[in-house]
Amino acid sequence: STFVGASFGGIAELYAQIQKAIGATERVFELLDETPEKINANGTTSPLEKIQGNVSFKNVAFSYPSRKEIQVLKDVSFTAGFGQKIAIVGPSGTGKSTIASLLLRFYNIDAGEIQIDGKNIYDFDLENLRGNMSIVPQDVILFGGTIKENIAYGKPNATDEEILLAAKQANAYHFIESFPEKFETVVGERGIKLSGGQRQRIAIARALLKNPSILILDEATSSLDSESEKLVQEALEILMEGRTSIIIAHRLSTIRSADQILVLDNGRIAEQGTHQDLIELENGIYKNLSNLQFSNS
Ligand code: ADP
Ligand code: MG
Repeated sequence: STFVGASFGGIAELYAQIQKAIGATERVFELLDETPEKINANGTTSPLEKIQGNVSFKNVAFSYPSRKEIQVLKDVSFTAGFGQKIAIVGPSGTGKSTIASLLLRFYNIDAGEIQIDGKNIYDFDLENLRGNMSIVPQDVILFGGTIKENIAYGKPNATDEEILLAAKQANAYHFIESFPEKFETVVGERGIKLSGGQRQRIAIARALLKNPSILILDEATSSLDSESEKLVQEALEILMEGRTSIIIAHRLSTIRSADQILVLDNGRIAEQGTHQDLIELENGIYKNLSNLQFSNS
């Protein structure tokens, strides 16, 4: 990909590349974390206007432009209040990541409304909107550069102390310090290869510096071994503090404490409530899934 080797610097240029690539999903999500300021037409930057983080979907319907015949989301409604944790679970291909894409405004919806802080999402300045969001996907791709540069992308004017603190909070400090070059270690195609869990912790450190109001975790721990998962999960708990978090989860154990769980089935919200609510639904999808997962682990 052209992005993996993209050099550090020229955020405006990078942003132009992102714009061209909209629709390429995960890889683009990655780059979103690298738009910490609003970039003006003349290349100067101005500070973001802070979003509170009240997210609301109202009867949202959506089909991908390339596959209009298939309605991916049908009548989806939910509200995530400021600082809440909303989990989305359900079978693969059911539209979970699509909800994330819509929040990041990659596509226009066909019906209903998405609001942030009570305002239509399409009425926001796009850079401002995305500047207030971070996503940690399943597979984090870093750009070729040093660990320090990769972390600082969340906040280009961050001090060394801030970068250090973010790395510590993200459970990344120990592995970074174990490399001879420490924070100056080059990663990516021409540098050392980090494990999936290490890359994830770099992304978490970057997001901590960016300090977004809305955080999206898209199966962030689902491809990790259990030791790595524990370290990442701990770091995510810190990252989620004080922001609205949308947690797309594969393993139910990670979402038990969510304020609200949405069970998505074939593009529709089939069940909605807390873990306790859903576990009490006779023949419920969540209940069955839960019985299955907890008896197997
Ligand atoms: P989940 O995250 O729940 O596994 P997705 O939201 O990724 O599901 O996908 C929902 C449906 O939309 C699937 O049928 C998938 O094939 C389709 N889909 C996902 N992304 C695109 C795309 N960019 N273009 C067309 N169809 C897509
Ligand atoms: Mg998905």
